Amino acid sequence: MVECRGCGSRDLAPVVGTETFAYCRRCLLVQRRAKSSSGRVAASALGALDRLLDRNRLGPGRLVVGVDAAPLLAQAADQGFDVLAIEQDREEAGKARAAGLPVVEAHFGPELARALAASGRRADLLLVPAFGRIADPAGAAEALASILSPDGSAEIAFASAAEIVPQGAWAAARNETILPTLFVLGALLEGEGLHLNDAARAGRHHLLRASISTERRCTGRLAGLLEEERRVGAHSARFYSGGVPDIAGARRSSAEEAAGIRT
Ligand SMILES: [Zn+2]
Repeated sequence: MVECRGCGSRDLAPVVGTETFAYCRRCLLVQRRAKSSSGRVAASALGALDRLLDRNRLGPGRLVVGVDAAPLLAQAADQGFDVLAIEQDREEAGKARAAGLPVVEAHFGPELARALAASGRRADLLLVPAFGRIADPAGAAEALASILSPDGSAEIAFASAAEIVPQGAWAAARNETILPTLFVLGALLEGEGLHLNDAARAGRHHLLRASISTERRCTGRLAGLLEEERRVGAHSARFYSGGVPDIAGARRSSAEEAAGIRT
């Protein structure tokens, strides 16, 4: 890899504690140095389908599109939703077809999204449970913008560099291609006219879930997580190069303060 997957810059530097990942000095996206191997996708990262449908106030007949999310789509199809599976891996595409899902086997990028949009199909709900395995996040952001219906929303999950780097939790990143922070993701989406609306910890494996749409709104818990990223230093290159001497301490005091605010 010579160019940043997020912004195309060639100014990449090592991330402290790992030889597998580099960070971009321009946009701060943490990313795998070499091409990643594909692994099984944890569709459960987004949580229960019912919750996702409720949150987005979707009833039967709307289109739910999933990127490497066949198990969730199978449930959605059972509940009367139109579904479309975008599968990036041949083997997984075969399994999705065998399960009776309509499948497009393609890389989730701008070309595919334009083709789908031109066909008149736009997603009311787009599920990307393994956003961290996407090799071209800039292309994915462009794809999100062209595939979402005007009032549609995307639900994604990914392992965050703001969680992985200070804890040295590299085992949790073994299947990831990129480790965005909410800050980096927000900037990437902003360029495509999209906004982060909500985010929450998924409770394990340093995963975050985030909701995205064209609307400019921000829940309290998203604001809290963004503030936490800022406080631990994840907005600065020093955070990734080991220049922040006591990240763990900063994180602890941040958590303690947050706990103090709640009580
Ligand atoms: Zn970059």
